[in-house]
Amino acid sequence: MANEKIPYKIYLTEEEMPKNWYNLRADMRVKPAPLLNPGTLEPMTAKELSAVFCDELIAQELDNTTPEIPIPDEIRSFYRMYRPSPLVRAYCLEEKLDTPAHIYYKFEGNNTSGSHKLNSAIAQAYYAKKQGLRGVTTETGAGQWGTALSMACAYLGLDCKVYMVKVSYEQKPFRREVMRTYGASVTPSPSMETSVGRKILAEHPGTTGSLGCAISEAVEAAAANPGYRYVLGSVLNQVLLHQSIIGLETKTALDKYGIVPDMIIGCAGGGSNLGGLIAPFMGEKLRGERDYRIIAVEPASCPSFTRGKFAYDFCDTGMICPLAKMYTLGAGFIPSPNHAGGLRFHGMSPVLSQLFHDGLMEARAVEQTSVFEAAELFARTEGILPAPESSHAIRAAIDEALKCKETGEAKNIVFGLTGTGYFDLVAYEQYNNGTMTDYIPTDEDLAAGFAGLPRQPQE
Ligand SMILES: *Cc1c(COP(=O)(O)O)cnc(C)c1O
Repeated sequence: MANEKIPYKIYLTEEEMPKNWYNLRADMRVKPAPLLNPGTLEPMTAKELSAVFCDELIAQELDNTTPEIPIPDEIRSFYRMYRPSPLVRAYCLEEKLDTPAHIYYKFEGNNTSGSHKLNSAIAQAYYAKKQGLRGVTTETGAGQWGTALSMACAYLGLDCKVYMVKVSYEQKPFRREVMRTYGASVTPSPSMETSVGRKILAEHPGTTGSLGCAISEAVEAAAANPGYRYVLGSVLNQVLLHQSIIGLETKTALDKYGIVPDMIIGCAGGGSNLGGLIAPFMGEKLRGERDYRIIAVEPASCPSFTRGKFAYDFCDTGMICPLAKMYTLGAGFIPSPNHAGGLRFHGMSPVLSQLFHDGLMEARAVEQTSVFEAAELFARTEGILPAPESSHAIRAAIDEALKCKETGEAKNIVFGLTGTGYFDLVAYEQYNNGTMTDYIPTDEDLAAGFAGLPRQPQE
């Protein structure tokens, strides 16, 4: 049996590491819709974007045609500190489930930031540095992105200003301190530092903040401070491009052993890890070379793909960012307070949104208690304490493996294990105490979010 030879972990040599990122958009027949200027509803030009974003990153954002983009040597040497990440055959989980399926996961939690976000953080910081900027601004929710960016900025000697959603700033002091240890300044959002923050505080005194609001503050801070630009950890095309390193490594590792996945599963918040993981596989699918099932997994409490609208929307609450066409619940949508599992952004990557709209991938929503059940089983069998976000993918992978048990099919299941859950122990505590609940928004809840969608351009 060929599979007898497959090791627990498939690593790559340095020579086998990808030298280029893969730009999936080059192979899409229907390209993702362009970002629009919210005032004119015309596509954003590179010049308009340059007030907020770094030049080279704008070029990547707007490039729908170049399939391979070289990874600069400096970024490749940073990647070597924590990459390649292992592709693990989940033998122990397979045995526990007693499934004929072969389960593989790509583990991105092997770095201090604890997630895949470092793959794009280093790229964005690198281009900011290359442009001669002094620093970058960003927002962070629970803190994974802020942590990754502060690590990348420390490495390159760039200043890093992070607006952290106030409730997380207060309730998750550990990540905040990791960021400060790497030299970032961390401001609870909304703050009095920006006009949008002051406005939100005046309208909603005592608010504990939201990701959309922190984005508005970070964007304003970038535009207001000379030598600063804004960077974003998900959703944007450029972020999916950088994250293609995940999928490229996965594909090279699978190819070494002649393994062809039947399905590829990933959790979807803003879509960057999933977009990166599936990139080379989706490329084959788009070019008609091979077919795969591709499954996005999202929380039932923040169901952008499965219950959202495919429309132009704001990425931020302050409505100062460009409009993106995506599956969205509306920029005003905030998941219910009992939601502990991450993946709380209201929108979704325009690339993935277009692929989903065109029937090239599937999506499903799962409830958080069942996500934590899967996380617990995974921790106890495979040994890794998974991030709640990643555990959405684990849930779906286990469900698919159990289906294989019924049908007797030995399918190859690949999923993205995006990170570790050491900073999510309050959520685990709720689960362990039996106090975790599920809340699925009603149609009325969602209607309130949709009512805030902006005017749409004429078709
Ligand atoms: C941020 C994050 C996600 C979700 O973001 P995507 O852009 O959808 O990938 C998933 N898992 C972990 C561990 C994260 O930190």
